Amino acid sequence: MLISGPLAPLRCDELSERLSALLDGERDAAALVRVRLHVSGCPACARLALELLATVEAMHGLSRRGYPRSAGLH
Ligand SMILES: [Zn+2]
Repeated sequence: MLISGPLAPLRCDELSERLSALLDGERDAAALVRVRLHVSGCPACARLALELLATVEAMHGLSRRGYPRSAGLH
């Protein structure tokens, strides 16, 4: 059985896909959590992804806990 669901582990090749979708403006908090989880356990991806991840988080206005601050209410 495949592990699926919002917190299923990402593979390295999926990580870059998720990241580029997030950089494209996809607002997917679960995907962002999965990206964070992957880079925390994968130094190779962390080197590539940490900077992008910071960009995505800034872009999405996420707090450290990973929740949208204003959820689109401005
Ligand atoms: Zn990786």
